[in-house]
Amino acid sequence: MKLDKIKLDLKFNQKRNFKLITPCCNKSNRDGKYINYMGMVDRYGYCHSCGKVSLPKQEYQDEKGEKYVWNENLEKFEKVFDTGMVNQTITEHKPIDPSKKIELKYIDPSLVKESIQHQPENNLLAYIRKTYGDEKTERVINLYYLGTDAIGYTLFWNVDKNLMVRKAKAIKYDTSGKRTSKIRSPFLNEDGYKACLFGEHLLKFGDKDKDIYVLVESEKTAIISSIILPEYWWLAYGGINGLTSDKMKVLKGFRVLIIPDMSENAVSIIKNKLPLMMQLGIHAEIWDMIDGRSDEQLKQDLDYNNDLEDIIKKKQNNYEN
Ligand SMILES: [Zn+2]
Repeated sequence: MKLDKIKLDLKFNQKRNFKLITPCCNKSNRDGKYINYMGMVDRYGYCHSCGKVSLPKQEYQDEKGEKYVWNENLEKFEKVFDTGMVNQTITEHKPIDPSKKIELKYIDPSLVKESIQHQPENNLLAYIRKTYGDEKTERVINLYYLGTDAIGYTLFWNVDKNLMVRKAKAIKYDTSGKRTSKIRSPFLNEDGYKACLFGEHLLKFGDKDKDIYVLVESEKTAIISSIILPEYWWLAYGGINGLTSDKMKVLKGFRVLIIPDMSENAVSIIKNKLPLMMQLGIHAEIWDMIDGRSDEQLKQDLDYNNDLEDIIKKKQNNYEN
């Protein structure tokens, strides 16, 4: 059996579904900020409220027209039945043999080097430079191998503890350093590129007995926090569901503090991981910034979905006013 990659034909459906609850930020769509794609079920679309794109998994098709997706947990292709989509076209005829075990692949380090040297640098780095100065910016570029791709996306390279380059996440930021909905993953899991924690390579440099490794949700938060609080090592798990057992294994024997973003969901997902982390021999604690508040209360306090950088900024503003 050989599988072909299916490309989605993405077009926005101009008719909004005002009754849905957005899959990204869990809001009512009364204001019509969530737009669906044509020919797809309601949970796939673009959200003007939080800026996230919700898309189905990459699909593949065999000779008989049966469809498959890659299961990240089982690390194999599995058949899917109702995919909820109609507008699909096969554009890439590069057949994959799913019976063969997928070998772990690494990215050529010269690509990383090239991206670090790429000019002009991306909007996020320009923002960091403007806000925190050249010296601190150069430090984080070197510490995290921050790069720019050909169309101005910020490249967050996943470098593991053996200094091997595993994967990359590419995000486009606007000039004020805010992320846009444009996110790409240029190296796919099913092609053999497996993610690790962003900043995993830093485990190699710290003192295992003394240092504290702080885990946050987004790569940008890790970078900004490492500028503001350079006495800690900052790693990112890359998304609300990004802290997988595969990624956390390397933390065995390290002292870890996890700071989830501020929502009931983000905090409870991480709290549920603690028993597993203990089993794996990781000394982990959570800094729960929501402190028992509900999402409703967080919204009233203007803290909802905030991350550590937002909290620090808010405190700075309070001092200045
Ligand atoms: Zn949203």
